[in-house]
Amino acid sequence: QSKDDGGGSAHYYDPKLHVQAEERRVLEIALRSAIDSDQFHIHYQPVVDARTGRLVGFEALLRWTHPGYGDVEPAKFIRLAEETRLITPIGAWVLRTACREAATWPEAYRIAVNISAEQLHSPGFVQSVADALEESGLAAHRLELEVTESVFLDEGSNAITSLEKLVALGVRLSMDDFGTGYSALGYLSRIRFAAIKIDRSFVRSAATGKLESVAILRAVVTLAESLGMGTIAEGVESAEEHRTVQDFGCSHVQGNYFARPMPADEARNLINNTAFSIAVA
Ligand code: C2E
Ligand code: MG
Ligand code: MG
Ligand code: MG
Repeated sequence: QSKDDGGGSAHYYDPKLHVQAEERRVLEIALRSAIDSDQFHIHYQPVVDARTGRLVGFEALLRWTHPGYGDVEPAKFIRLAEETRLITPIGAWVLRTACREAATWPEAYRIAVNISAEQLHSPGFVQSVADALEESGLAAHRLELEVTESVFLDEGSNAITSLEKLVALGVRLSMDDFGTGYSALGYLSRIRFAAIKIDRSFVRSAATGKLESVAILRAVVTLAESLGMGTIAEGVESAEEHRTVQDFGCSHVQGNYFARPMPADEARNLINNTAFSIAVA
């Protein structure tokens, strides 16, 4: 290997890369058997009306507890599940489980489920949503599917067609992590999204008064309002951040300041505790 080919150290054995590849391989094998071994469960994080403080529903967040490795971070295993397409069967399990759980709640409460691009693009996805609704008896309007702007990246994927079919089923769509990706604003006019979820990085920097973030947050809320969509501020961690997003007119809030993601039985307790509402200043 010539030294001046510009490729540098990448041609040499890098123990760190090896560990990463090895860890990936081990995790992938573990992930493949996680559904059948009952290692997944779902945590539910409350979504709250920003003005009244009333609970409107929950977001389903997947958790993986491996008998040997313990709790594996979603950021780690969901990415891997997407790359290996294991997200399709795993996501189908989340959808079925979350719909079944939400069907036990009073009708006023919604459930939001995250959908990866790979899942949306997989054949039979729309049918699997219809099946999850049918099987659980959950009314379609109580299910919200969260997609990110990345679903629009793959031109040949027919994302639009699938999303239109989902809207036709009566489910709600929301655009997740808004502000972190490509901000494909044009799609907001083509597909009827029910809500935009404003990413926590935005919430954070707007609360510190960063001018650009403030301007963008204001514009997004105005845009959403004029299109008849809600705005959910994600990852609200403090009274200060709550005040900020309230000032901007965000319709809903979610974050550890109000409640962390919790097991299904705790979510049920919260619903049954009618006294629960967030103090809104
Ligand atoms: P997301 O959809 O944006 O979900 C919100 C994330 O913010 C969750 O991270 C949640 O625990 C976290 N969060 C909530 N409140 C706060 C807060 O006040 N501060 C901070 N710092 N974080 C907060 P989590 O559970 O680790 O999930 C990470 C991501 O993994 C999710 O981001 C979502 O994109 C993905 N994910 C989770 N469950 C599923 C799933 O069932 N299917 C798919 N496809 N993706 C999932
Ligand atoms: Mg989400
Ligand atoms: Mg998401
Ligand atoms: Mg998000």
